[in-house]
Amino acid sequence: MTEHTLTVAGVAVDTRHWIGGRRVASTETFTDVSPIDGSTIGEISRGTALEAAAAVAAAKAAFPAWAATSRAERARILHAVADGVEKRIEDLSIVETTDNGALLRSHRRGVMPRVAHNFRFFADWLLKLEHEDFETRGHTNHVSWDPAGPSVLITPWNAPLMLATWKVAPALAAGNTVVLKPAEWSPLTASLLADIAAEAGLPAGVLNVVQGYGSEIGDALTSHPDVRRISFTGSVPTARRIAESAAGNLTPLSLELGGKSPLLVFADADLDLAVDLAVEQYDNAGQVCLAATRFLVEESVAEEFTRRFVEKAATLTQGDPRHETTDIGPNIHPRQLEKIDAFVQRALAAGARAVVGGHRKDTQYYAPTLLTDVAQDSEIVQEEVFGPVLTLQTFSTEEEAVRLANDTRFGLAATLATADAERAERVTAQLVAGTVWVNCFFVRDLQAPFGGSRHSGVGREGGTWSFDFYCDLKNTVTAPNGWKNHG
Ligand code: NAD
Repeated sequence: MTEHTLTVAGVAVDTRHWIGGRRVASTETFTDVSPIDGSTIGEISRGTALEAAAAVAAAKAAFPAWAATSRAERARILHAVADGVEKRIEDLSIVETTDNGALLRSHRRGVMPRVAHNFRFFADWLLKLEHEDFETRGHTNHVSWDPAGPSVLITPWNAPLMLATWKVAPALAAGNTVVLKPAEWSPLTASLLADIAAEAGLPAGVLNVVQGYGSEIGDALTSHPDVRRISFTGSVPTARRIAESAAGNLTPLSLELGGKSPLLVFADADLDLAVDLAVEQYDNAGQVCLAATRFLVEESVAEEFTRRFVEKAATLTQGDPRHETTDIGPNIHPRQLEKIDAFVQRALAAGARAVVGGHRKDTQYYAPTLLTDVAQDSEIVQEEVFGPVLTLQTFSTEEEAVRLANDTRFGLAATLATADAERAERVTAQLVAGTVWVNCFFVRDLQAPFGGSRHSGVGREGGTWSFDFYCDLKNTVTAPNGWKNHG
């Protein structure tokens, strides 16, 4: 324990950066606050361009040895990291819940096991990563995935460790070294990950963690000439700044951004299922990029759908995310709550009707909300709120449903409720979305491509697509009997 250690719900968390296998403190700090009750958790090192540069230098220094480490050894160490995560699921869960307000039971049973799985999956995928050799006029083509180099990974607060490790695991598996910059509203579990990785035997400098405000250290990371990859999950305005900053070095980017995804409910759908899918959109207090926040319901069933939705929404319990019976926790920060409420009040002033909620509960919690009577071109239909705020519109033809579904600048996901397989196929083919769920929601497999179209992102990660992004692909062409003729 040092003056830089916080005790969060009984768990010791180092508040400093992790650079080159050492803890490094900044002179300045920022205050980390719990969304559960607005209480101060503690002071965290507030990185500057200096620490950003030191972290990139550490990643650069560690790169040659890590890139040269055999696939089998890299995979072994990643499995050891997964073991370390599994041993600390309880610690990681309570720290994450305290820090970002998401449900403790989800962290324990879903999110943290998935964090471990991120490491296991990419370790195993690495071992079977290959492309069959092929011939061109007797010449052999051989494709290889070469580690690209130091990678900067920048992540948001809504699912901190899950989203961070979804990038860290494939980047490390690929043989890259990493500088991770977690969100300033949820910095803690990244620090625990550094401890776990070090204990698992990950060499110094292979994973570095810098804390601080993106506006203060982001540019130093993303414009750095030694950085070979940038993977970012967050908002569209930040993505634009990162793209500008990375342009000088033409650093390849992977961008996973916001959404305004639709839930299309056709009259032939199982309405109970459709309502279950709809109510799920309040998960994580609506702070889910993939959330289907726009309900598009066929006119003939809209009244019945709404009635059942209102009934079901009334059964949800909102409150302390540490309690087993809570369904919806707080929003991340009073500033986020203000933003959410401003969206809702502007929508109401423009003529929307709140069928459910429509107001804040206090400074930390926003009432789950459903708005109807909203115009397609209105702000509330077009812009991402990132809170428990949903809209409902109706359609009368399949054509209209598709048109409304596609009519935003986003294209992250879409969910369909229908009993007609042919319709599902027809509609899916016309939707602009990285992921389409038919009669289900949030089923995600790490081998599937994941990402968004239009303003929801650039590129895809997952399975081989992650390795394609984090590696420099190389094709080696060898002449027939090459050694006899040329050697
Ligand atoms: P944000 O863009 O404000 O911040 C994300 C991260 O970027 C933080 O770590 C922040 O410190 C950093 N950052 C800020 N300015 C920066 C700069 N100039 N340079 C470099 N980094 C900088 O986003 P947020 O509010 O933390 O997250 C919410 C957003 O993330 C929503 O739009 C949501 O839809 C999106 N999101 C997308 C996905 C996805 O997979 N598509 C997943 C989760 C969240």
